[in-house]
Amino acid sequence: MNHKGILIVVSGFSGAGKGTLMKQMVRSYENYALSISMTTREPRPGEEEGKEYFFVSKEEFEDKISKDGLIEYASYCDNYYGTPREYVERQLERGKDVILEIEIQGALKVRKKFPTALLLFVMPPSVAELKKRLEGRGTESQEVIKKRLRRACEEAEGIEEYDYIVINDELEECVREMHSLIRAAHYAPVRNG
Ligand code: 5GP
Repeated sequence: MNHKGILIVVSGFSGAGKGTLMKQMVRSYENYALSISMTTREPRPGEEEGKEYFFVSKEEFEDKISKDGLIEYASYCDNYYGTPREYVERQLERGKDVILEIEIQGALKVRKKFPTALLLFVMPPSVAELKKRLEGRGTESQEVIKKRLRRACEEAEGIEEYDYIVINDELEECVREMHSLIRAAHYAPVRNG
């Protein structure tokens, strides 16, 4: 299939500020569509069905897998996360660049299936800032925070799979930088994958 838009995969440590960054990207530029993932994790306080995620049971998730309804999926900290196929394909056909905020296992699957996908890894400006952001969120227990920090270190090992690392220090600046990288990616059809 010859899609008009490209897939933008954004990964990074939990607490790197990806969520805010992605929302700002979509707000600042009209050619981006943000994919909403499906997950079996419980909603955090303030999260809404269909906004941050589609929250489903394990059975519903497995049913979606069996019907080939996900572009990719992965298990992360004891829960399933996956990208619903239909929305993404529709947006790509309309010429939109679709942003997937997903972890590394999923990112690698996307790279295989979509050689033109651009893979970006978002880093917090420092470890101290990462801890501060995770704790400041105030929605997770110390145990969950520790687990996520450990997982962050594991994920860093896969960083060479990505096309660019982006430092999320100042939000607007980071948004502009990502936009430039994406624009440039349209002229370089296949990346290093
Ligand atoms: P959180 O529970 O903090 O919302 O997300 C945990 C991790 O799952 C994050 O690294 C996030 O990027 C990743 N994630 C969210 N949606 C998806 C998805 O659809 N597929 C994959 N592979 N990872 C996802």
